Amino acid sequence: MLSVYTRHYSPCTQADSNHRRCHCPKWINGTLPTGKFVRVSAKTQSWENAERKARIMEVNADPLRQTLPDVSLRITIEEAVRDFLRDEEARQLAKTTTCQSKTLFQKQLLEWAKGESLRGLSMAGKEDEWDSRWSGSRIEGSASGPASGDTLSYPLN
Ligand SMILES: [Zn+2]
Repeated sequence: MLSVYTRHYSPCTQADSNHRRCHCPKWINGTLPTGKFVRVSAKTQSWENAERKARIMEVNADPLRQTLPDVSLRITIEEAVRDFLRDEEARQLAKTTTCQSKTLFQKQLLEWAKGESLRGLSMAGKEDEWDSRWSGSRIEGSASGPASGDTLSYPLN
């Protein structure tokens, strides 16, 4: 379990390492799921960001992570796909184009996502890979496939 604390520096007059609301550097220390002790700068002045970073570090270090894919993340991806398709329909594409696109897009994206075992999709730099896969998945033979620059946004949580 990792926790966040503050290292206060002048001119801050706080002395309590649990004080959250000053702009002094926030640090993370504690024990990772692997049993390893860490003490690192969170490289932020925001307690909330430091907390998020601590949670990410814990998840990344969790040895069970490989065998227990994050269910909420899978739902997030499938929702993102549905949102994209709904948006595409809203743009009044021809029905055949939408069907074709739906099949290909869902198949490609979901298979890729499952193939990745959803590892680190929302972290660890997978966004670049996502982007390149996505831009490579333009629909063949469709004049009105996803426009370039049309990126699929998905929640990071
Ligand atoms: Zn302070």
